[in-house]
Amino acid sequence: MGDSNIRYADIIIDISHEALDKVFQYRVPLSLWEEVQPGSRVFVPFGRGNRETEGYVIAIRQEADYEESKIKEILRVNTEGISVESELIQVAAFLKEKYGSTMIQALRTVLPVKTKMKPKEEVFITLSIEKDTAQQLLGEWERKHFTARARFLSILIKKERMRKEEAVKACNFPLKELRKLSEQGIIKLESRIKYRNPFPELVTRKQGWPLNDEQRAIVDNFKEEYRKGERRTYLLYGITGSGKTEVYLSLINEVLAAGRQVIVLIPEISLTYQTVRRFYERFGERIAVINSRMSKGEKSDACERIRAGEADVIIGARSALFAPAERLGLIVIDEEHDGAYKSDTSPKYHARETAIYRAKLCGASVVLGSATPSVEAYAHALNGEYHLWTLKKRAGNAILPKTQIVDLREEFKKGNRSIFSEELHKKITECLERKEQIMLFLNRRGFAGFVSCRACGQVIKCPHCDVTLTYHRNGKLRCHYCGHEEVFTKQCPICKSPHVAAFGLGTEKVEAALHQEFQAARVLRMDMDTTKRKHAHEEMLAAFAAGKADILLGTQMIVKGHDYANVTLVGILAADLSLHEQDFRSGEKTFQLLCQAAGRAGRGEKAGNVIIQTYSPEHYAIVAAARHSYEDFFKEEYTYRKLMAYPPCAHMLVILIQSGDESQSIIAMLRIEKIIEQSQSGEMDPIQILNPGQASLSKLKDVYRQVLYLKHKEEERLLDLKRRLEPVLEKHPMFAGISIQFDFDPLSH
Ligand code: ADP
Ligand code: ZN
Ligand code: ZN
Repeated sequence: MGDSNIRYADIIIDISHEALDKVFQYRVPLSLWEEVQPGSRVFVPFGRGNRETEGYVIAIRQEADYEESKIKEILRVNTEGISVESELIQVAAFLKEKYGSTMIQALRTVLPVKTKMKPKEEVFITLSIEKDTAQQLLGEWERKHFTARARFLSILIKKERMRKEEAVKACNFPLKELRKLSEQGIIKLESRIKYRNPFPELVTRKQGWPLNDEQRAIVDNFKEEYRKGERRTYLLYGITGSGKTEVYLSLINEVLAAGRQVIVLIPEISLTYQTVRRFYERFGERIAVINSRMSKGEKSDACERIRAGEADVIIGARSALFAPAERLGLIVIDEEHDGAYKSDTSPKYHARETAIYRAKLCGASVVLGSATPSVEAYAHALNGEYHLWTLKKRAGNAILPKTQIVDLREEFKKGNRSIFSEELHKKITECLERKEQIMLFLNRRGFAGFVSCRACGQVIKCPHCDVTLTYHRNGKLRCHYCGHEEVFTKQCPICKSPHVAAFGLGTEKVEAALHQEFQAARVLRMDMDTTKRKHAHEEMLAAFAAGKADILLGTQMIVKGHDYANVTLVGILAADLSLHEQDFRSGEKTFQLLCQAAGRAGRGEKAGNVIIQTYSPEHYAIVAAARHSYEDFFKEEYTYRKLMAYPPCAHMLVILIQSGDESQSIIAMLRIEKIIEQSQSGEMDPIQILNPGQASLSKLKDVYRQVLYLKHKEEERLLDLKRRLEPVLEKHPMFAGISIQFDFDPLSH
């Protein structure tokens, strides 16, 4: 054990991604104990000459890694000005603590990548002489038939400013001539750094709608509190089309007017041209977009513009939360309930909780928006932790669609063996006759059906992963985790029976059925297979919006974002598909998907219809979705969570143990279970350990996965256990070579 009278600080001097693991240790003098914290900027003696150098503290520790006499002391703390890096390092420390990752992993997550690529320079041309003089000169050149010069000058007079390329290429005016005119003092050549902007030239500042009463009240409430300096977390709950985005735009305006910056998070899949465009139209060049499709250079440029304060509205997916905005005043998280807000690599952070933490550090407010809030967020809103705003009406003229549940068991009794119930069939026919559009929705994450043996019940699985293979029409079975493919032999590998067949519903199968039953209809199928190509996703949605197909058929990727005025029918083919996933959130996910899908109908002037086909017409998630009643759903769901002690009524910590050697992974798991049990023997209110064993995905790419679920009412108890467990796991030789990951309040199990 170290001496409790001594403290050390881990310090990094160079915070570029390549150098993050170069950590140096210094002693913290007693006089600086209070001030020196993760994130602090300090001066230390560095290198051979002990030059005074600035560094960032990333951790405080009681123990030294080196001989005491070799450790130097921190000189002083830099208290001058704020640094966004300091703030982000504090966020990293939070991620490490709360989600159980290493500090280096956390730092890599939060600190922006800096590329060595130089930003491109751009040369602008302006007049050095008065406009009148230029006009005279133009007349003179025209008389002398200096056609190229005259053409160039007349354009420059009109535009006042043009890019070098425009002059050289567009007006066919050589560079040599430009230099000459510049030397003669007629024009000025100015170079400016050009940032790579993925959405160039799209600025048509448009005024927003005049807000309706509900929207107005919310915006006024925010303004009043914001001006008073009150910062908090708001939950904006409003059905699809109720005008949430319009509210965000007004809130952002307010925050910009106060000289602060804003981060807007949108799930990656909804981060389309169409959504971003609305922000561009309002805020123009003040926007920086960050998404995973951007090149490193583009990302790095965006970060530079943000840091320089040139961009003050930052739009992006989850990771945009760590944008280096020094004057951050508001974080908006749209579709707050979306699963994509939880990272699936270490640190497995949730953007909602992390945003609230960052906002506290820098004095920002947080606005969470959703048509179907997560059970967590709504529970927080009800208990007063968040402030609840509600939008009850659809903005504009659109009205809620009529929704109908069809019991598939009854269809079966009637002898209907088709994918489409009588009612859905009738509605599709009518819709096609009216030349209106239809969306058909398969609410599953998978694709084609799994393949099983009807004789022995064996399900055919991937030899490398514990997942079922799916059948494709090209006659192959494919694993969607590792890409393994094999020929479908139609023979059971276990009992050799020939009765092996694809089960369940896949988009390909539905597409085939559509062609058969509605021959004239133009069908667009959208799933993981048809959208692999870059931009395919957006192109297909755009084609549908342009009326190039009558029916859009797809998995959950079709339910996001877009407004289609001509879609008047939405059909959910089998609502049960997501209901029976082994997951305590399956009810919530089903409800969200159904509501989102239903929200696609009747977004324009025409009324919409929604048909939900299901084998469980009495399930509360389905009934509530058909009634468009989030409150009904929440009541039932919350009761269930409480009864079963699932989040948010209790907290969960998942420990995932992975090894290429199956028995090793099992031994490690049992050992960890023992350690936990021993550490809390005799305790009154111990942490519960639920069925330790194989993870539901028990093998992935030939790595075996064991899992321990821990549950307790108090979050702090689980965090404390994790804190005590980590050093043990790090040091004990039996855990060497085994990957151990923590996941706090998982999104699925
Ligand atoms: P949400 O984000 O809740 O789905 P939007 O902000 O996209 O809702 O609004 C839905 C539609 O209603 C959009 O087409 C939008 O332009 C329009 N809209 C929003 N607010 C108003 C308003 N106050 N008056 C008229 N139309 C509005
Ligand atoms: Zn069999
Ligand atoms: Zn596989």
